This record gives sequence, structure tokens and C-alpha cells, in this order.
Amino acid sequence: MQFRDLKTQYSRLKSRIDQEISKVLSDANFISGKQVKELEDSLAEYVGAKHCITCGNGTDALLLALMAWGIGENDAVFVPDFTFFASGEAPACLGAVPVFVDVDERTFNMSPAALRDTIKQTISNGRLTPKAIIAVDLFGQPADYDEIKQIAQEYRLLLLEDAAQGFGGNIRGRKACHFGDISATSFFPAKPLGCYGDGGAVFTDNDEWAELIRSYRIHGKGMDKYDNVRLGMNSRLDTLQAAVLLVKLKAFEEYELTDINLAAQKYTKALQDCVKAPYVKEGFYSSWAQYSILLDNAVQRDGLLKHLQKYDIPGMIYYRKPMHDQKAFDGIECKVTDLSVTEDICNRILSLPIHPYIKEDEIETVVQAIHDFFTLHMK
Ligand SMILES: *Cc1c(COP(=O)(O)O)cnc(C)c1O
Repeated sequence: MQFRDLKTQYSRLKSRIDQEISKVLSDANFISGKQVKELEDSLAEYVGAKHCITCGNGTDALLLALMAWGIGENDAVFVPDFTFFASGEAPACLGAVPVFVDVDERTFNMSPAALRDTIKQTISNGRLTPKAIIAVDLFGQPADYDEIKQIAQEYRLLLLEDAAQGFGGNIRGRKACHFGDISATSFFPAKPLGCYGDGGAVFTDNDEWAELIRSYRIHGKGMDKYDNVRLGMNSRLDTLQAAVLLVKLKAFEEYELTDINLAAQKYTKALQDCVKAPYVKEGFYSSWAQYSILLDNAVQRDGLLKHLQKYDIPGMIYYRKPMHDQKAFDGIECKVTDLSVTEDICNRILSLPIHPYIKEDEIETVVQAIHDFFTLHMK
């Protein structure tokens, strides 16, 4: 059983993908070919944003957004403590301090109450200037933007949506990748919409920031690549990846997103009596980058993971370590409030195999193995 089955996806889409790849090969427009612009237009339309700027990966997408805002030394950027490293790495790479915020124990997303406390504490510490919030759409569920946007406005902070796992999610029909002042996503192969290598994109309605990001992603270009008005980076999406994504975006819209939601529903129905199944807020729709359950404690979680491995069922732990415990942040004033919900979740979480092509009997095998584990350990 595959944790995320990219081989089956390819076999279903093979003829179209192969055709699109050969077109790129015969045109030999490997960088900035017409497929890149076509993809940017399709993605902007899908999420409802004015601008989509593709780039090399999701981490660069975050960096480009922060660079457009001039985030740097002595700035505080509020980041959930429970996320992938890149969400905190991006502001830290620019010299800013990622100040970690505890998460909601049900959605695993940034807790608005904890955000407010952490902002207040940072202001009262007086050393850093609060500049921005990076809200993460963890495991595919959009963060709590109703409340987070209000807090951002109240404290005049910029809001960056890290939708690396969130593409395809929505809140009452409003799509992810359009909740931030700038939003960023990733096309890493295992993300909800993935390509065949690294890729990413930035979305915004703001013309000025879009122009800056287009410059930063190509060596701080002015009129062209050889007129350089600022220090930038080299971060473009390959034409080959854009061609693959154009095919995959169609499948994503036509059936993949619906099918993965059906798979998640089946899991939840079968598992909710024995473990804590994922909680999706009323009016929220997830794209299920991960299907993550909570066990009672670390011993039970690690026991279940081992038990699943015996049946050749791949489970994964996202994430074992809170951000504030990562060695890379040693010596940085990144923890100013209580982060105990994250610490607790890290000990108890387990992600199960899920993807749009998972079969009914595969779900049953996983569910049966979990039920067996609990029967064994109740005796
Ligand atoms: C994957 C991921 C990123 C980084 O994306 P890459 O394309 O791998 O650079 C950033 N934030 C989160 C939450 C992610 O899951």
C-alpha cells in the first residue's frame, strides 16, 4: 500500500501527460515557455486571485512574499508552532524572528486566541517589531481566517497564507490561496496538487507586490534579466512542470478533490469510535494533504505505528517536533508564550495513507488493522 499513490495517478493520466511533456521537449522552451503563463492564468482563475506568480518551490514562494514586504532584522513574524520547518525557516533566513504560536487542539491550525496573546507578549517584550503573520493551512484545512484576519487588521500586521498543503481547500466556497494579503503554495509531488519535481506559486491581488515578486524571482530584474535593480534569486517553475500541472489541475478539479474527500469521510465514519478522527470546522472544506488521527499518548501512537507496519501499511508522523524545539532556532527569542498544545499533539499524532486513488478495500485494511490493535490492547 502506498502512503500517497503517485504511480496510479500517473497511469491514469499517462497519455495526456506524456503528450504534453513531448510537446515541451520538441519546442525546447524549457524556461518560461508558454505553458507557464497558461498555468498561472488557470491557477489565478481557480483560486480567484488577480495575480499568480509561479516559482521554484513552496519555500521560495514564502521567501518571495516576505521579500516583497521588506521583512528583515528585528521584525517579528508569527508562525504556528505545529507546521513544516519551511514556515519558520523563511522569515528566519531573512533575519526576522519567527515567534511561534500554539495551535488549536481540534483543527491543528494556529489558535486565534494564542495568536493574540503572543502578539501582546511580543509588544510588551519590546525588542522586536511585529510585522506579519504566517497562517498555515495544515493538512489541507484552511486556517481560521475569519478571526485571524481581524487580528491582523487590529494590530496592522501583514497576513501571509502558507497554503503549501492547502491548495483546493475552501471556507464557505472561498478558496484557499486567496486568504492572505499574499498566499503561497507548493507543488512538491506529494502535496494536494503536485508536479514531477519541485515547484511553487505566489498569489496576490496587489499589483505592486506582484511586480516586486516577478522581479525578485528573476535576479531582481528591472527591464529584463540583464538590468538588475535589486538583489533577488533564481526561482522559476520549469516549463515541463507547468505542462504536467496543467494536466493534473484538470484531474484535480474534475474528480481528485471530490474523491479524496470521499476517502476521508469513509475513514472518519469507520474510525471515530476508537480514535480521535480529524475535525473539519463547520463551513470548511479540506483538500486532505494528510489524514491525521490523535491517539491517547506517545506509547499508544508508536505502538499503533509499529502494528500498522507489520501489515505493510505505511503511517507517517507529521510532526514529531514542535518548531520551537528545532535546533536551528536555538538562541532565537522564538518562544514567548505557552506552546503545550503543540507539544502534546506531536506526541499523539499519526497520519494514515490517503490519496484520490485509494481503494475501498485499502481503507478497509487500514481500518481493520487499527481495530485489531485496539482489541489486542484492551484485553
Ligand atoms: C511543503 C511545505 C512547505 C515548503 O514547500 P516546498 O515546495 O517543499 O519548498 C512550506 N510550508 C508547508 C506547511 C509545507 O508543508
